[in-house]
Amino acid sequence: LFNKDFGQHILKNPMVIKSMVEKAAIRPTDTVLEIGPGTGNMTVALLAAAKNVIACEIDTRLVAELQKRVQGTHLNQKLQILVGDVLKTELPFFNLCVANIPYQISSPLVFKLLLHRPFFRCAILMFQKEFAQRLVAEKGDKMYCRLSVNTQLLARVNIVLNVGRNNFRPPPKVDSSVVRLEPRNPPPPIHYQEWDGLTRIAFTRKNKTLASCFRQSPVLVTLEKNYRLYCSLNNQEFPENFDIKTKIENILSEIDAEKYRARTMDVDDFMRILLAFNKEGIHFA
Ligand code: SAM
Repeated sequence: LFNKDFGQHILKNPMVIKSMVEKAAIRPTDTVLEIGPGTGNMTVALLAAAKNVIACEIDTRLVAELQKRVQGTHLNQKLQILVGDVLKTELPFFNLCVANIPYQISSPLVFKLLLHRPFFRCAILMFQKEFAQRLVAEKGDKMYCRLSVNTQLLARVNIVLNVGRNNFRPPPKVDSSVVRLEPRNPPPPIHYQEWDGLTRIAFTRKNKTLASCFRQSPVLVTLEKNYRLYCSLNNQEFPENFDIKTKIENILSEIDAEKYRARTMDVDDFMRILLAFNKEGIHFA
């Protein structure tokens, strides 16, 4: 009946649905985005509380089922359905996002939402438990990774509910957690693609020092190419005896960061390092 490729696990426990809707603190003026409404168990609860709901669903069979469910009720006019893959859909305005999402799109979806403008107020999302733990992990934690620091740059994030696999039909192979994401507004003064480039390098070996991460030759090649581009865009001459390796070593030592390791660095540490590199014309994107 349900399509495994689309991660279809229907949330059966009304208490969990109620709790997610409560955590969202929906106002009667809110427009709520729901991703993957499925058969609409959560959708009807959202419709009852919000001004309107925009639901994005990839499976046309379920879209038909959802339409049938609200047809002829007063909820019908509050519901807009976007048919298609949410990752390929241009999202309209929304204040809140509440969803039991397909887990295979967790990571790209988080960043699609957090980079969406204008800002939404908060998102209440169901994830695989381990993914949720990585989202909230702090420096030094075992689960701390690029996902943690990239998310925490853009949002405040915490786990609000753990949900066992038996609350779903069919039950998935993993347990779940509900996470609350609140975008940092105003956003940090950071070019996100640059930030992502830096954390990608630092977390290739999260237990190694930054100095050693930056000695990898593919990294050096890319950063030198970026520096050439930076020079030409700024009408600067590319220095004749330029050595990208020395340049990077000097930047790191100036801010005393050679011995830093990604696993013990927080958002502020990465921000400081990104600024120091950018000031010297070194760019990551
Ligand atoms: N919200 C329902 C519930 O809680 O019972 C169903 C949740 S189920 C885990 C995930 C839903 O997302 C399914 O309805 C599936 O068809 C839909 N889906 C899967 N991939 C999608 C995508 N890329 N874009 C939009 N919807 C998708």
